[in-house]
Amino acid sequence: MKILVGGSVAIDNVKTPVADESNLLGGSASYAALAAAKLSSPVHLLGIIGNDFPQEHLEMLGKNGVDLSGLERSDQPSFTWTGEYHENMNDRTTHNVAINVLEHWQVKVPAGLADSQFVVLANMAPINQLQMLEQCTAAEKYVVADTMDLWITVANEELHEVLKRIDLLVINEGEAREFAGTNNLVLAGERLLAKGPGVVVVKLGEFGALLFGPEGAFFRCGAWPLRELADPTGAGDTFLGGLIGTLASEGATSPTFAQLKQAVVNGSILASFTCENFSTKSLEAADKSQFSDRLAEFQELSRW
Ligand code: AMP
Repeated sequence: MKILVGGSVAIDNVKTPVADESNLLGGSASYAALAAAKLSSPVHLLGIIGNDFPQEHLEMLGKNGVDLSGLERSDQPSFTWTGEYHENMNDRTTHNVAINVLEHWQVKVPAGLADSQFVVLANMAPINQLQMLEQCTAAEKYVVADTMDLWITVANEELHEVLKRIDLLVINEGEAREFAGTNNLVLAGERLLAKGPGVVVVKLGEFGALLFGPEGAFFRCGAWPLRELADPTGAGDTFLGGLIGTLASEGATSPTFAQLKQAVVNGSILASFTCENFSTKSLEAADKSQFSDRLAEFQELSRW
């Protein structure tokens, strides 16, 4: 079952209370594709990079099972994000967003990938999400999307269009409140369902996630209790990749609520690896047995 992950593929410069690192692999699609490839295969990355993109990042993705044939290369500089986390590791300040190659990007899905059954519209401009979706032609497919506060503000209409055409939306807590116009997260989840997607996942950072399904179906998933965090960048994208990787590994283009619950738990566990080191370093290194050990312990911690 083919997974196609589209979104930003970035160079990140990140400062946290732990360290300050630059020229890192970043981007919503990079994290999501790498996470999906931990659980399923094949995974295809769709995005655009510039002439300054470090080769080692591409090699790492390739070595970890991410196919790069859908990655466009441009003569312009790469999309670059520079940000800083505050002491609590939840709040961050974006110092600079150099849009560069993303500014005039027109998404092109290569013919061989258009029939992907699992489609991930990772965080990117809603117009790019729509372009990608229009070219995905599998009769039976499962489409998930992520977004961010910027698009709620500057591309609200296109974002609403995206919501009508996807199966599952992943959104973080603050954005869910803003988008749904309520501080109550249960109401926010329900209001987002009413905008179109059959399933909504509200990410709660270090507290896990809320899963809202059809007919009032609801699940509350915690997060792995990390003792040390180095850099939470990309945790949400990793969560998204883990979620789709789980569904694809089961061929679940019409997942049951039980499958969605497992997908959310797996996403949450994979995201914990991402937070342990800068960029994708810890996620890259996490093997199957580390993942299963953490999953088993998490199950123990979550039941009573
Ligand atoms: P997250 O921590 O899950 O919000 O994801 C962080 C990643 O999103 C970073 O690696 C950034 O490169 C990427 N990013 C930041 N701003 C944008 C944007 N406007 N569009 C697409 N990706 C972005």
